[in-house]
Amino acid sequence: MTARLLDGRALARAIENSLRDEAATFTGMFHRRPRLVVVLVGDLAASASYVKGKQQAAERVGVDSEVIRVAAAATTDSLVTLVRAIAAGSHGPADGILVQLPLPEHVDAVAVLDAVPPERDVDGFHPENAGLLSQGRPRFIPCTAAGVQRMLLDAGIETAGRHAVIVGRSDIVGKPLALLLAAKGRGGDATVTLCHSRSEDLADHCRRADILVAAVGRPRLVTADMVKPGAAVIDVGINRIDEAGGSRLVGDVDFDAVKEVAEWISPVPGGVGPLTVAMLLANTLLAAELRS
Ligand code: NDP
Repeated sequence: MTARLLDGRALARAIENSLRDEAATFTGMFHRRPRLVVVLVGDLAASASYVKGKQQAAERVGVDSEVIRVAAAATTDSLVTLVRAIAAGSHGPADGILVQLPLPEHVDAVAVLDAVPPERDVDGFHPENAGLLSQGRPRFIPCTAAGVQRMLLDAGIETAGRHAVIVGRSDIVGKPLALLLAAKGRGGDATVTLCHSRSEDLADHCRRADILVAAVGRPRLVTADMVKPGAAVIDVGINRIDEAGGSRLVGDVDFDAVKEVAEWISPVPGGVGPLTVAMLLANTLLAAELRS
């Protein structure tokens, strides 16, 4: 069997098309475009490339964006002050404020993220937004988790009553996704198992999954023998590996082997990544609408 491909790139473009209409309506009503301000600390090539992708997508949709670049030596205090200043309007209207992760190790990332006002927290990382999500009344849902759920919904993959196994329990992906899939209602009602580095018999848990999500950051962690025939496998991981002809991006799933077992599979690149960006823009529009 060869699995059906979950094409995140195509879905993201479709979402962008409807966001473009929404942004145009907003601009017509309020005589300004929705606006996203991004803080980029340091010079990590991967972060710069993610931010560029976000800016390009914002432009396609009709959302203004500004990137504030800060040296890697910035202190926690200076970043907290900067985020507060942005919220106060120092860099123009800021419907959404995003601090690109990871921050340098010497920075207290929690303190910086907590400085983003919850009503502009388009990444959905503020404790208020995490709390609302956990209570089943989400406002800003972390973008990657929202993207995975959207991918399942769009493909018509039933979640209700099915067993979803998520590998990875980070605050930005695994944990919010577990909450989303376990929540009551459309795209939820799943029975969720959340695995991590201390889980025993990981392969055994994975083999019981109707929906298997890998969000770890380890190339080929999920092998074909860990997948139930007919499962939907969503690969969140982004890993750069070096090969003879150069380097390339791979996910956490052994794609070539797993596609022969699964019914659905998302590729890397071109799977969850583009949806994460689309969901960020959806959150930015929501923030702009809530503020106006
Ligand atoms: P984190 O490093 O914050 O979390 C990784 C999780 O994986 C942790 O819960 C960790 O367990 C768990 N883990 C590590 N090793 C194992 C193992 N051998 N077996 C089982 N679980 C393990 O990563 P993120 O959640 O931020 O990101 C995960 C991956 O997703 C990365 O590759 C990242 O680049 C990618 N990513 C992709 C996005 C996209 O848009 N496609 C967006 C965000 C991230 P423990 O908690 O015990 O340490």
